Amino acid sequence: MLAFDLRSLVTQFDSDATEHEQVVLFQDPASDLKGFVAVHSTALGPALGGVRFHSYADEGQALADVLRLSRGMSYKNALAGLDFGGGKAVLIGDPERIKTEELLLAYGRFVASLEGRYVTACDVGTTPEDMEVIASTCSWTATRPMTSGGSGDPSVFTARSVLQGMKAAAVHRWGTPALQGRTVGIAGVGKVGRLLVEHLFEEGARVVVTDVRAEAVRRIAEKFPETTVVEDTKTLIRLEGLDVYAPCALGGALSDDVVPLLTAEVVCGAANNQLAHPGVERRLKERGILYLPDYVVNAGGVIQAAGGLRGATHRQTVAKVDRIFDTTLAILERAEAENILPGTAADRIAEQRIARAAHARTAAGSGQSIRPGRFA
Ligand code: NAD
Repeated sequence: MLAFDLRSLVTQFDSDATEHEQVVLFQDPASDLKGFVAVHSTALGPALGGVRFHSYADEGQALADVLRLSRGMSYKNALAGLDFGGGKAVLIGDPERIKTEELLLAYGRFVASLEGRYVTACDVGTTPEDMEVIASTCSWTATRPMTSGGSGDPSVFTARSVLQGMKAAAVHRWGTPALQGRTVGIAGVGKVGRLLVEHLFEEGARVVVTDVRAEAVRRIAEKFPETTVVEDTKTLIRLEGLDVYAPCALGGALSDDVVPLLTAEVVCGAANNQLAHPGVERRLKERGILYLPDYVVNAGGVIQAAGGLRGATHRQTVAKVDRIFDTTLAILERAEAENILPGTAADRIAEQRIARAAHARTAAGSGQSIRPGRFA
């Protein structure tokens, strides 16, 4: 009965729902735990993706989010060259209010019951310290703190991968990876944005920032007094002389209203799901703006998480993150050659890799759904 209800709900919230291998509702009333896990694909390996803890308006909204995000992880992991499939979990409720050790342990027991089909990592509303708690009931856990031998906060490599994507865009648009003298506007200087600021100053770029939190802006201005601060994102995107716009706050930064106002020639940022709807990418192209799909350039964090799981060295992880430069360039070149959008080119590359792996699995006649993987 529950399976039937879930299926009808899944179809209601995601027309691509038939793509998902497994969608599970879990709950533990004793600890107020309630959420969903969606395993989109294990063709490339165990489904790897974060657990988002958020006060969703209702279960439908949480389900829609987990379906969309898990699908996105399949594409992100495939493009990053990882031997991991795509999955995601969402926990329903305000983490500030209901996140307890008891709840996290119950969540760990649930993930453990999936026996490795899904590997959980931190995301919005969860931290490496939470992963440490979860790890005591579940060995399928990534991004534990470095002090406990985990891969730690993924933001470090996310910022690095966004920089690599930006350099590839610079080659495609201006014929050189150099960002020296370019002006980059960053909306959102939280964990990823502030590290991106550091990278950009090292590259000799000019940096303009904005954030809704005065404290976040103050921190940047103190460390880098040469930073220009503007009042809000609307001011930032209309700034004369802006070369690159880097959305590093929330999703939906690129909407029908925003596109006509943009002065930047390139959009490349860390925020997930930047396009308010898929049609926005075409509007960006029509305005001559080069848009880099977020799931291509923000994969550094998941590469770091995967490296931690596979026992990769720091050097191996850095090398894999830096390959995002080549991947991004290949996507932009294919998009140009085939006269398609970068997002379409990226999707095709990911889908080909996933389909090849699924085919190889079927051809091998393996009853195993999850193959052992490699990293380098
Ligand atoms: P964060 O919460 O640390 O930082 C986000 C910042 O954006 C905050 O300082 C917040 O005050 C600011 N902000 C919120 N609304 C804003 C607005 N309207 N205008 C300007 N600033 C605003 O998050 P983060 O970890 O830095 O992640 C940033 C984005 O990158 C998110 O969309 C996240 O999903 C995505 N992402 C992060 C990682 C990672 O490793 N942390 C990996 C992949 C994708």
